Amino acid sequence: MPRFVFLGAPGAGKGTQAEILSREARLAHVSTGDLLRAAAAAGTPLGREADGHIRAGRLVPDGLVLALLRDRLDRPDARAGFILDGFPRNRPQAEALATITPLDAVVWFELPSAVLVDRLAGRRVCTQCGTVYNVSSRPPRTAGRCDRDGAGLVQRPDDRPEAVTTRLKVYADQTAPLLEYYRGRGLVRSIDAAGTPEDVTARLRAVLEAAAGRGDAATSPPRRSPGPRSR
Ligand code: AMP
Repeated sequence: MPRFVFLGAPGAGKGTQAEILSREARLAHVSTGDLLRAAAAAGTPLGREADGHIRAGRLVPDGLVLALLRDRLDRPDARAGFILDGFPRNRPQAEALATITPLDAVVWFELPSAVLVDRLAGRRVCTQCGTVYNVSSRPPRTAGRCDRDGAGLVQRPDDRPEAVTTRLKVYADQTAPLLEYYRGRGLVRSIDAAGTPEDVTARLRAVLEAAAGRGDAATSPPRRSPGPRSR
């Protein structure tokens, strides 16, 4: 079954692409950010603890995120394959993930940081269904309203400039080093995340099709001949 991780900076388009491709390929879209926001909105003890970290742009403690992730991956839809979006975000999470499931590929979204900041500043989210828009690159048909259900669009609190600065720093310090971790395991496939969402989807589709079913060298039986390594 296809098991992918989408890795990249906040604003690189992981969520948008995971939403499109999971629907297309009938994979579960597992976003730890969405799971945490839903827990915070529901006011569960875990959600209340996570909320302050999210608003400030800091990582939520690993134990909380892992508890949510394990539950989500146990659901039947995820057993047929998944795209992990926003997890892992640091080395302990990557190591925990390796004990839970093998992976087919880790797709690395490459984008210059100036573009990231613009994308985060322009991002708007539907209050009802969570569909993501961008005021310049993916505007809704009617300003401020969701195309799907007409509900209002809002800016996430952590897309405001103060939190964005923290998130980009956390990313550079803790998440970006995972590139080397996964390169060492032969799992990284880099894609150019610039351009329209349609351009990026087309690039990704090709990468995912080529990588599906390869499994993870760490947990699968050794392959007879080593597959092509990315870079
Ligand atoms: P995202 O929607 O992926 O940008 O995540 C939004 C926020 O949720 C992050 O800035 C963190 O505060 C929190 N979060 C999401 N995924 C994780 C994770 N894997 N580990 C820790 N915190 C996370």
